[in-house]
This record gives sequence, structure tokens and C-alpha cells, in this order.
Amino acid sequence: VSKRLLSLKEIPAQTKDGVRIKLLGNIEFPEEVSQCIDRGADGVGLYRTEFLYLNRRDEPSEEVHYEAYCRVVGAFPNSPVIIRTMDLGADKMPSALTFGAEPASNPVLSLRSLRLSLKNLPLFKTQLRAILRAATVGDVRIMFPLVSTLMELRQAKMILADVVEDLEEQGVEFKRDVPVGMMVEVPSAVMMAEEFAQEVDFFSIGTNDLIQYTLAADRDDPNVSELYRAADPSILRMIQHVIDVGNRHEISVTVCGEMSTDPLFSPLLIGMGLRQLSVTSHMIPRLKELIGNFTLEEAEEIASHVRNLELARTVENYLRGEMMKFA
Ligand code: PEP
Ligand code: MG
Repeated sequence: VSKRLLSLKEIPAQTKDGVRIKLLGNIEFPEEVSQCIDRGADGVGLYRTEFLYLNRRDEPSEEVHYEAYCRVVGAFPNSPVIIRTMDLGADKMPSALTFGAEPASNPVLSLRSLRLSLKNLPLFKTQLRAILRAATVGDVRIMFPLVSTLMELRQAKMILADVVEDLEEQGVEFKRDVPVGMMVEVPSAVMMAEEFAQEVDFFSIGTNDLIQYTLAADRDDPNVSELYRAADPSILRMIQHVIDVGNRHEISVTVCGEMSTDPLFSPLLIGMGLRQLSVTSHMIPRLKELIGNFTLEEAEEIASHVRNLELARTVENYLRGEMMKFA
């Protein structure tokens, strides 16, 4: 990143006509928080805590969780830090935990992520305790991954309430009213967004998984990469629906999948109504510069043109053409 771009650190991301866009960073390890701060992030939009399991055969203790979270939150005390509960299984640390279960023939459709947490309550509660304790240090928010049904969300929230009660009884210092949000990354959650919006404080759209589950195309399989495209109109319509529902219910909506880091999609996503993106931190200065080069009206025109396109390829080509104007 050039000096010129880094000098953008102090100025907030905003469109040419002054519409504020929040750019948050995605992190996997606590050390990465300094890169977010150095590049002028508005907070951490996705902390992938499953990386605590990397190179580890045993379960991290509550203290290990707590220390990792405090390092992030303590470094960034006045900005939101969205801690996502463990998203283990499938593509991430598949062998870290098996819990004696038979290997799944379809790991991506099996016991992973929140499903795994809900089946292993001691592990889930350990993490939630650590998050609530670390929340005393700053502006922590909890996010549940791979929520597929309302029942799962309610179960997860119930367990969180149990943990609150335990901490209270034990006289442990913690924060009570931590905002609770969910990843929207399974098509069922998109279809039920209206109901979900009444039970969470925020949505974060995980396009990496949403594309995989919507187009039935493995996110890591080059044989189907032709199908796996963020620009597919089915994906864009889903994102639009979630943004609209979120705006109507006045809860924040972020996109935190790789799509949000790709400059090609910045004008489109903002034109669709998104005001917050969680991205790979090294791209923050470049995205800030790009966003400053178009107006909200221009972004909205792009979004409205794209609504009529039928193919991923047509969308991509159109966006590439539009980008030339803002580069
Ligand atoms: C996603 O699915 O888009 C996402 C951000 O989460 P992950 O890549 O960790 O599955
Ligand atoms: Mg995901």
C-alpha cells in the first residue's frame, strides 16, 4: 500500500457527495487488529475465532479465548468488534474436532459451524463466557455463523442467556447487553430474513457460503468455479432482499464475504443500499479512495441497471466498464 493511500487513514470513507460508508476489517488472528487500525478501519466486522483451533489438538480454555479477544478489543476499544462464534468444520479446520462422529460424506452440509456449537454446549459456553467477559473492555458484538433456521438462532440465544445467568451467579465481571447478530449465508436465512430481523441486532451477509449454497457449487472446487460467482443475479437479488429487510427494520447490514473486498462490487453494493462493508484490511485504503470517486446517485444508477441483467458474465462486464470511470 502506497504512502499516499495510507495517508487516507484519518479521513472516513465516503462517496464523492459525502455519504458515509463504514469499512471494517476481517481478521483471523488477534495480531491482525493492528493492520486494521493502521489502515483506518472503522472496526472489526468479522473476527473468525475458529482460527484459535489452528495447530491445536485440545480445546482452547476460556482463558485462551479471553486473552485473544482482549487483545483485539483492547487494541480497538472505541470501535465495534464483531466476534463470530466458532465456524469449525467443512473448509475450516475440519480435523480439529470430530467429537467421535462419523466422517460426513458431505461436510459442507453436515455438522459444522453453529450446528457443531449447539451440539457441544460446554465448548460453546466456554467461548460465550470469554466473549462476554472481553466485552467489558470495548464495543463487542456477538455473531452466530451459518444460522439456517429460527429455531437454531433461538437456541443459540437461549444458551447465551444461560451463560449470562451463570456469570452473574458466579460474580464474574462481564457485559450484559452485548448486541447479537447473525451471518446470512444460507438461502433459508435469506428467505426468512423478515422474521430473523425481529430477533437479531444486525445481519452480516457471508457471500462465500451464500454463493456456494445458492448455486450448489463448492467454494473450493475449481471444477465448478464457472458457476461460483458473486455477480450471479440470484446472489444479487438475495443480497438486495437482505439489505431491504435490514433497512426496514433499522438493523445494520454488512457484507463480509470476499465479494465486499472486490472493488468491482463496491459501487454496486453501495447503490443497492449497503452502507457498511467488512473487508480484507489491506484493501481498506484502496476502497476508500475508490468510494470517494463516485456519487451515491451514480452507484444507484449502476444498481438499477444491474437489476435488469440476467447473466453473471453480463453483470461483470458491465461493472468493469463502469469501473473505468472511477479508477
Ligand atoms: C462467508 O461465508 O462469506 C464468510 C464471510 O465466512 P467464511 O468465509 O469464514 O465462511
Ligand atoms: Mg461462511
